[in-house]
Amino acid sequence: MVAGLLSAFEFGFGRLASESLADYGAQLVWAIAAIFIVEMVRDFYHVLSHQWAPLQRLHGWHHRAYKKDFSPISTEVYRKAQLYNDAPESIFMMGVMAIAALATQTPGLWAGVLYAAGFLVSAVMRSRGLFGATDLTHEPGPLTGIPGYWRVNRTYHWRHHFDDTSAYYAGLFPISDKILGTALSLKGKSVAVTGASGTLGRALIQSLAQAGAKPIALTTSNREIPGAVKVFSWQAGKESELKEVLQKIDILIINHGVNVMGASSAQAIEQSLEVNALSAWRLMETFLETVDNRTGRATKEVWVNTSEAEVNPAFSPLYEISKRLIGDLINLRRTDAPCVIRKLVLGPFKSNLNPYGVMSASAIARMILFLARRDIRNIIVTINPLTYFFFPIKEIFQAIYFRLFLKSEKREKSVSGKTS
Ligand SMILES: [Zn+2]
Ligand SMILES: [Zn+2]
Repeated sequence: MVAGLLSAFEFGFGRLASESLADYGAQLVWAIAAIFIVEMVRDFYHVLSHQWAPLQRLHGWHHRAYKKDFSPISTEVYRKAQLYNDAPESIFMMGVMAIAALATQTPGLWAGVLYAAGFLVSAVMRSRGLFGATDLTHEPGPLTGIPGYWRVNRTYHWRHHFDDTSAYYAGLFPISDKILGTALSLKGKSVAVTGASGTLGRALIQSLAQAGAKPIALTTSNREIPGAVKVFSWQAGKESELKEVLQKIDILIINHGVNVMGASSAQAIEQSLEVNALSAWRLMETFLETVDNRTGRATKEVWVNTSEAEVNPAFSPLYEISKRLIGDLINLRRTDAPCVIRKLVLGPFKSNLNPYGVMSASAIARMILFLARRDIRNIIVTINPLTYFFFPIKEIFQAIYFRLFLKSEKREKSVSGKTS
């Protein structure tokens, strides 16, 4: 069996040696792809470990091994977890990649086997106490950053252990969670929605309830809101009064707004800026103050409905001006925000604010949740193709500009630390 594998291995490389330089290049590309593929294999094994009883028993050791700050429960359990979970996981990854390399006669895929072998060696060494350092996603200590977008970091993976074990399966690249819709769990989360009595607000509350969240309505009217587990009334300008409520909220969706259409009086300007931009900004700041240093970075989020008026005409100048202002303020805040801030960049939908809408609010609400579960941070839902083109360009250039010209709090602290 081993001899057979070895000869097949040699055959693969023998074939490689006889081929042209272009083939070496192709195999190099396959070797890089192998890392992505083998990480997907890891995620598949992980999902299976939560579904299939024999693997569940082995994987259980991993989940039992850590306290809430990722420090090991005990040396014994930690070492057993390495042996019963991490080692078989690496062997599975090696096996699948070896079969793939042999079956497709693609030598580059052996890079995936080598890569997985590295994890096997460290798992076995850790299980015997020969290797002290733990892997990057399980380092003990407080959560310092927000969940990674391109790469799974500690805060991202922490949620798999302590927020929802039936989500956040990804090990290194969050691709599998994006495919499965498990990159954000709404299950049991308290989600507050402002503008809850409006057309989209009501649709969001209902979609959130269907998704297993606990929707909480924040509204200026007394109308009944089906699906909401609680209703709080508030007025623009009195955001700080909501602080106690926001303390217990996991996700705040800032969705209220006003559209003065063609009006341009001083009063219309004040109303548009106050409701669409300033009250939204104050509410966001009040919420961000409730993000604690323990788990808040992992579990709390703000979503702000900025609308595609950020980059496209909404045929209502003051609506555009105020929505662009809050859109820009969010980008400014995103440079050092203590939690994830998502934008909802929505096209026209039929509502009291917009009689010209074409999409239905419930379809938009469902799409918002579909994309949020895939951790899309700028959630664009519109039929206007220009938004999909212009919005990312605007965001990228503004992000670069802000990075260049805003003083980072952290950098400022370290500078003042040096001088004092
Ligand atoms: Zn797990
Ligand atoms: Zn883990």
